[in-house]
Amino acid sequence: MKSAYCREDLLHRQQRASGLLTEGLDAVVFFDLHSVRYLCGFTGTDGVVVVSATGVEFLTDSRYVVQAEAEVLATRITRYNEKNSGIADCLKRVQAQRVGYEANAITCSSFAELENHVDVSWVGMSVELNAMRALKSPAEIAAIESATTLSAQAFAAVEPLLTPGQVERDIALELEIELRRLGADARAFEFIVASGERGALPHGVASTKRLAAGELVTIDFGCRFAGYHSDETVTVAIGDVSARLRAMYDTVLEAHDRALQCVAPGVPLREIDAVARDYIRVAGYGDYFGHGLGHGVGLKVHEAPVVSPRSESLAEVGMVFTIEPGIYIPGCGGVRIEDMVVVTDDGFRTLTRIPKKFRSLVA
Ligand code: ZN
Ligand code: ZN
Repeated sequence: MKSAYCREDLLHRQQRASGLLTEGLDAVVFFDLHSVRYLCGFTGTDGVVVVSATGVEFLTDSRYVVQAEAEVLATRITRYNEKNSGIADCLKRVQAQRVGYEANAITCSSFAELENHVDVSWVGMSVELNAMRALKSPAEIAAIESATTLSAQAFAAVEPLLTPGQVERDIALELEIELRRLGADARAFEFIVASGERGALPHGVASTKRLAAGELVTIDFGCRFAGYHSDETVTVAIGDVSARLRAMYDTVLEAHDRALQCVAPGVPLREIDAVARDYIRVAGYGDYFGHGLGHGVGLKVHEAPVVSPRSESLAEVGMVFTIEPGIYIPGCGGVRIEDMVVVTDDGFRTLTRIPKKFRSLVA
């Protein structure tokens, strides 16, 4: 089983999770499988982690006991017959009264059922847990770089298909097949291949449209490796494009480069967003860049931190996030350029590998 964890990482995370107990909580229950994997190394699809003063307990059912024994680092591994009863027994055993839980990882109906099983006072949590995952360890960054390397290799293999007449969906499919062939666990999300006027759709998933000469095509794709994701957007020209499209491209690239250059520890994420956003606005495209500049990437494709005008955090060493400005003009087309960076002591390092200089692929 490929794993992006070392024992020290897991112990460190468990210590940080135990730190949540100082908020007057006797235990915290983690339902989200990304959190479960993050805290104890379990890669299966059903399990719960309970952190309390007595340690870190992993609970799962009979299907996963063998896997858990091989993968999980925990004070105790408990097998339950029924999940809610298992959680209830655990909370009673550790004598918990005030219990934190991941409010965004359980449905209202599941939570109502759980409440029926045990009489404790529940405290919903989310921000506290997201912030923990925003800072990546060297092993996590290495897994992300494996994913970005596979992405670059797959893109190079599929590039010859970027010619007039090719169908967007076929390009998306070939990219996915290539990624899997190269060793990726899965595609990271449904790929965006948006050519010509469709480029104005920031989330234009690949359609049956054929590429045509004179268009830009925006390809937003990525893969998962050892649980970690890559996320990258390339926009290329199919043959010669109009001066208008070229000007859009150059504007987005400059906004992207300027934002990258200001990434460093201590810089407000809001400010990194503003550098790109202001450049695009002054160039006259202010109405055509509606989304945030970037987002954290890790066990999930979208996780903390958010890089947008509403960001409240500062860049910190070990944070991994995207820089992805875009311009989308209805009836004309669009450009997005996306790279992933990690914040380092002396600034940043780019994790994605595909060059973003303007390129025209065929005459
Ligand atoms: Zn993307
Ligand atoms: Zn993204």
